[in-house]
Order: sequence, then C-alpha cells, then structure tokens
Amino acid sequence: MSEMFKAWLITKTTDGSKAEITDFPENELMIGDVDVRVFASTINYKDGLALTGQAPVIRRFPLVPGIDFSGEVSRSGHPKFSPGDIVVATGQGLGETHHGGLAQKARVSGDWLVPVLGGLTAQQSMAIGTAGFTAMLCVMALEDAGITPDLGNIVVSGAAGGVGSVAICLLAKLGYRVVASTGREEERSFLTSLGAADIVSREEFSGDVRSLAKSRWAGAIDVVGSNTLANLLSQMNYGGAVAACGLAQGIDLPGSVAPFILRGVRLLGIDSVMCPAPRRHQAWKRLACDLDLDMLEALTSHISFGEALKVGQKILKGEVRGRVVVDIDE
Ligand code: NDP
Repeated sequence: MSEMFKAWLITKTTDGSKAEITDFPENELMIGDVDVRVFASTINYKDGLALTGQAPVIRRFPLVPGIDFSGEVSRSGHPKFSPGDIVVATGQGLGETHHGGLAQKARVSGDWLVPVLGGLTAQQSMAIGTAGFTAMLCVMALEDAGITPDLGNIVVSGAAGGVGSVAICLLAKLGYRVVASTGREEERSFLTSLGAADIVSREEFSGDVRSLAKSRWAGAIDVVGSNTLANLLSQMNYGGAVAACGLAQGIDLPGSVAPFILRGVRLLGIDSVMCPAPRRHQAWKRLACDLDLDMLEALTSHISFGEALKVGQKILKGEVRGRVVVDIDE
C-alpha cells in the first residue's frame, strides 16, 4: 500500500472548488525525478486565490495547492541533487497544474529546484518565498535598467504586503532612498523599520489617471496594477523605470503612452513563474547576500498547517503584513 502524507487538497464542486486537509497517497504524486520532504511553504497572494477559489489559479483537479516550498531532498534521480540537500522551489506550475507545496511531500523535476544558499534554513527560504524572489527580480530589473541610488527616490506600492516589504528591505540595503506606498496608516512604523525613508498614502495613486503628472520617481516597484500603475508611470522622472509584477488593485492598465514617448519611461514586466533558470539562480544568490536576515525575521510570521485557508482568505483582503511561513509539521 502507498505511504500516506498530510496535504491540503483542492477539489472541484458544483459551484467552484473547496479546500480541505486530506491524507494523500504518495503514489498519486505527479511525475518528477526528485522527492522533497517539505518543511515549509508560504501564503502568497496567489495561494489565497487558489485556496478560496476566488480566481481560476488551479487548472486541474484535484490538486495540492501551494506555489512554493522548501525542504530536504529524500530521493533524487537528478544529477544536481542528492538526498539531504536543502532546496527551494517556486512557480513552474506548482499549485496550479502540478501538486504544490502545501503538503508534507512534493515530487518535482530537479530542474525546478534551487539549492538553498548562504546557510539559510528552509523556513528562511520560505520567508522569502515567491514574493521575496519576485521582489529581487524587480530590483534586478531596475538595476539592469540603469536605475542607480543617486538618481532619486524609488517608490514601492503595496508596501506592507509580501513583495512590497521584501522590496523595501532590499532597496534600502542597496542604498536606495525608498518611499513606501500603503493603504495602512497603522503600518507606518513597520515600514520605516524596514528601511522606508518616507511613506505615502496609496490613495495618491489609486484614483483618476493623468497622462502626465509632476515627475517624482527615478524608479518604482508596483504590485498593484490598474490605476496605480498608470499613475506611477505618469509620475516617473525622465528615463525612469517601473518594475510591474502584480494586480492587487486590478489587471487593467488604464493609462496613456505619454510617459513612454515624452519621458522615455520604461515599463519592465516581471514574471516569477517561468523565470529562466540562470536568472532564478542569480536572484536566489543575490537574496542570500543582499537581504538582511534580521529584517526578514521582523517581517515574517509563522502559521500552522491547518491555518493556511484562514490566512489565504485574509491575504485577499489586504490584511496580511509582510510574509507568512506555513510550518508544515505544526
Ligand atoms: P500581498 O497581499 O502580501 O500584498 C499586496 C499588497 O497590495 C497589500 O498588502 C496592500 O498593501 C496592497 N493592496 C491590496 N489591495 C489593494 C488595492 N485594492 N489597491 C491598492 N493596493 C492594494 O500580496 P503579495 O505581495 O504576495 O503579491 C502582490 C501582488 O504581486 C499580487 O497581485 C500577486 O499576484 C503579484 N505577484 C506576482 C508575481 C509575478 O510573478 N509576477 C509573483 C508574486 C506576486 P498596503 O496595505 O501596504 O497598501
């Protein structure tokens, strides 16, 4: 008989989907040359959508949710990994088309895995998780666009969320002057403690869009999309760049081409899911040296396995601060 392990499972129902904890048989794991004993997963915004069924993140049923995980290799047919290695995985269809990280075991292609570097633990890797990895990709995109700290302020939207809070830490440590945009006035001191030099209200960006507004920013990291992204574009300095990765306000972009054709503004699209392996490895290497671990701890909370659905509901309401690690065996 197949060994069983604990897993969240999303099944289809007549009116959508439902998430529950089950005993999952190992022989129903999907194809993959590496087995991982999962120690930690996280709740990203996309996990909230998948767990609650509020958006069609899951594309085959039944499916174990969880778009990322970290743990120890228990079996490997892949030349780069051996039992005992601590690894991290994000994206690649995990928790969307392939059984994901909210379970005690995962079976994946070794090509999806990244070795955990710099003495980080599995828990710290998941405190970073997809959101922190995406924040690093945004920072790297701004650097590649030539946005250096001397050029002026960098604004980060959705600042008190997962991507936003890690982005602030990274940018501040790299010497940028960071302005945090938040809808949560009560998180002002939290954001300052992460390294934000100034705080602005999200209302400044979420309303009607102007084609071109007063120049304010050398760079921006936007997790919000919609009017917010369009307004940020309209406020960029000449030659500025915006790394856009999210849609917390909406998937639309109701703006104008004026910032592109009159100010040479660059819009840099960021995708973490299918990010090519060399860039993926480079980003995790950078995270291992450019992220202050005390800051990471300060922005992270831990929850038990059974709390995943409840926290998935909270993240969609914008009520989660920073990053949330799911301790799988708790
Ligand atoms: P969080 O929920 O942790 O953070 C999102 C933040 O956005 C909230 O904390 C809130 O910040 C702000 N926000 C929420 N709702 C609104 C709204 N209606 N209008 C304006 N601001 C709002 O999510 P994550 O950080 O995990 O993800 C952020 C976004 O990035 C999501 O859309 C997610 O899907 C996307 N993402 C994309 C990836 C990619 O590969 N492209 C990878 C990872 C995430 P505050 O309270 O401070 O205002």
